[in-house]
Amino acid sequence: MTAPEPKLVIPVVPRNAPKAIVIGAGLGGLSAAMRLGAKGYRVTIIDRLDRLGGRGSSIAKSGYRFDLGPTILTVPDVFRRLWSDCGRDFDADVNITPVDPYYEIRWQDGSKFQIRDSQKDMDAEVRRIFPSDFAGYQRFLKDCEKRYTFGFEGLGRRPLNKLWDLVKELPGFVALRADQSVYQHAAKRVKDPRFRMALSFHPLFIGGDPRHVTSMYILVSHLEKEFGVHYVQGGVQELADAMGRVVIDQGGQIIPETTVDQILTKGNRVTGVRLETGREINADIVVSNADPGQTYDHMLRQHSKKRWNKSRLQSSKWSMGLFVWYFGTKDTSNEWSDVGHHTILNGPRYRGLLKDIFDRRLLADDMSIYLHRPSVSDPSVAPKGDDCFYALSPVPNLKAADAVDWRQETAVYTEKMRKVLEQVMPGFSEKIAAEHVLTPDDFKSRYLSPYGAGFSLEPRIFQSAWFRPHNISEDFENLYLVGAGTHPGAGIPSVVTSSEVLNQLVPDAVEKVCT
Ligand SMILES: Cc1cc2nc3c(=O)[nH]c(=O)nc-3n(C[C@H](O)[C@H](O)[C@H](O)COP(=O)(O)OP(=O)(O)OC[C@H]3O[C@@H](n4cnc5c(N)ncnc54)[C@H](O)[C@@H]3O)c2cc1C
Repeated sequence: MTAPEPKLVIPVVPRNAPKAIVIGAGLGGLSAAMRLGAKGYRVTIIDRLDRLGGRGSSIAKSGYRFDLGPTILTVPDVFRRLWSDCGRDFDADVNITPVDPYYEIRWQDGSKFQIRDSQKDMDAEVRRIFPSDFAGYQRFLKDCEKRYTFGFEGLGRRPLNKLWDLVKELPGFVALRADQSVYQHAAKRVKDPRFRMALSFHPLFIGGDPRHVTSMYILVSHLEKEFGVHYVQGGVQELADAMGRVVIDQGGQIIPETTVDQILTKGNRVTGVRLETGREINADIVVSNADPGQTYDHMLRQHSKKRWNKSRLQSSKWSMGLFVWYFGTKDTSNEWSDVGHHTILNGPRYRGLLKDIFDRRLLADDMSIYLHRPSVSDPSVAPKGDDCFYALSPVPNLKAADAVDWRQETAVYTEKMRKVLEQVMPGFSEKIAAEHVLTPDDFKSRYLSPYGAGFSLEPRIFQSAWFRPHNISEDFENLYLVGAGTHPGAGIPSVVTSSEVLNQLVPDAVEKVCT
């Protein structure tokens, strides 16, 4: 994929241009707003938070900046293309730096495996730890590339709201064995249980259970290998703020700390939104970056829906919840030198733990942790000499009738996590100077995420592509959807790509001037 040179001059949108409302300033909503501004709409973004970025926002405590969500940026070209579509240069506005090793995976037996940027280094690492699986690994890489070409470049960047668009692609799905899960595919290629984990855990990055998510998603490994792993200097908040500046420069406006209660309709068209305060704002088109569950079930509660009615939403599979402990530590920048920017700490179980999280919906005593240490790459996250971390553990979402009561469980679970982390960073708990915790309860209250899910609908085969909420509503002709719960799915590259799809569905509002 190549990012084109900027080739359009986008005029500042005139005051009498058609109006677009974007509900939600997540990366999906912000990228949609930028593209609508470039199309000539007067854009208003409304978000309930006090800052931009949604799950990619940050909070500050005692001099530490806690970047709450995404830490890994793959496929930066989706942003270069977005900026270019707005007549601007991404690299002039945002500073991203490559990270190598991408991450280190550790197991309970003490073994460590680094995912490296160069294929030569990667091959050496595989030969060192999994010598008998080397041939299978090479086949796996080829499998990933094929699925990337078909799934990401092919299907991911086009609208898939017509059944025929999917039916045409069925032979491709069959040929690529989309019926197999990511785990089954990895297990077919390699034998070592640790390597099976290392090649199959990626769906967890986008909310899916590797035992059930279609093997098409092994394409994520190819995204990393082909486009690298990057860090946004200043955190993803910086990226979101840069997106907001483009929207303002285009003549758009952003209304923070404001919740949309209802989408207003007339016949088969939407006419604007009603805020929780009762104020109404009209618009020619509305784009919802809120979760489709909330969009259909709450904001359109007065209407019957063709597809995404209450019972369908309830019977859908939702991604897991997340428990995230953010902490800053005093005078530790020279300690735990073997802990890099990204580390995955496996607990004693892999498939058993997935079963507890996704099937049994039980909070297990053991856990696997993704440990983020941004201070390795970005001194701005902590006071000089200090460190900043987050430790993330996938947990059940809140869908079970007897869901975890996080008011009771937060302190208990934090203590369990502390014990695991003490083995990796001895003495860290005494050095903590600031901390913050997010549980599924917070995902529900902060982002209005159904069941407190971390990533909206799980990306199972019958909840992907045409089966996922479409980017244009079936119910109202000028209502559009972007973001993690829509096609193509969760994760930064996909939510930005959902605005590429939107771009193909929304008519231009004014003529663009070509240079
Ligand atoms: C802890 C964590 C780590 C992650 N790590 C990575 C990573 O390393 N790499 C990666 O690529 N992806 C990662 N992801 C996934 C990625 O962050 C998300 O898929 C993506 O940011 C979602 O963007 P979005 O635009 O769909 O929605 P969101 O970010 O959820 O934004 C939706 C916005 O809508 C607002 N909103 C909702 N309802 C209303 C309403 N009624 N009125 C007004 N506003 C409303 C919310 O406040 C929110 O700001 C991670 C996610 C999490 C949670």
